[in-house]
Amino acid sequence: MNVVDLTTPLSAATPTLELPDPFVNLIDFSIDYQSEYDDRGPFWKHANIHTGEHIGTHIDAPVHWISGRGGKDVSEIEPTRLVGPAVVIDFSERAADDPDLLIDVSDIASWESANGAFPDNCWLLVRTGWDSRGHDRNEFLNKYDGGSHTPGFTAECAQWLAERDEISGVGVETVGIDAGGAASLEPAFPMHYHLLGHDKYGLTSLKNLQRLPSQGAVIVVAPLPIEGGTGSPARVFAFVDSTGGGAR
Ligand code: MN
Repeated sequence: MNVVDLTTPLSAATPTLELPDPFVNLIDFSIDYQSEYDDRGPFWKHANIHTGEHIGTHIDAPVHWISGRGGKDVSEIEPTRLVGPAVVIDFSERAADDPDLLIDVSDIASWESANGAFPDNCWLLVRTGWDSRGHDRNEFLNKYDGGSHTPGFTAECAQWLAERDEISGVGVETVGIDAGGAASLEPAFPMHYHLLGHDKYGLTSLKNLQRLPSQGAVIVVAPLPIEGGTGSPARVFAFVDSTGGGAR
């Protein structure tokens, strides 16, 4: 098995979602060393970290959204839902032409017609090429004309994905599971609304999806089990059969 790390490293430069006024933003990540083999701790180096829950490669738990308010916090998501087959669909060419791309039901359905039905307990991972912008906050958030221009899903597609029993969650390369312009959809932020309202999970800021086969990889999503947490940074690994046995 080859192990592919799908995780964005965490640092003070990690791009985070920026909500407009009057909404309250979470803090950026920072690391604050309390000793560095010095008078404060002669034999060791250790640090406090300060971070929002929703930063870098992270999971959204159902309780994050009003539609999932009675649902699971991040510590309550069963490990069996966090490990499963990955289905990787590549929309990077279309997203390069149209940063406001909204993936629709027909886009996913036509992929399934050509490639087969989704396996049980799967994670749908959507490649848009956005990870190549991750080094630069402005490029990653792509803000102009008063809004963020990043790809996502139509409201119809969000509901359709949320109602499919075989899907555990949806992973994306962008800062959030919804499109940059999703505040204007109905409902607003439909991926958050529908997925989290159906006990499905969102996964963001993934990278290296181009190293996965479209089918045959298994992913492990490992958030911190923060009690009451609405999400958590997560380490995400994919296991790929190095003998080429996985379907492509
Ligand atoms: Mn989030």
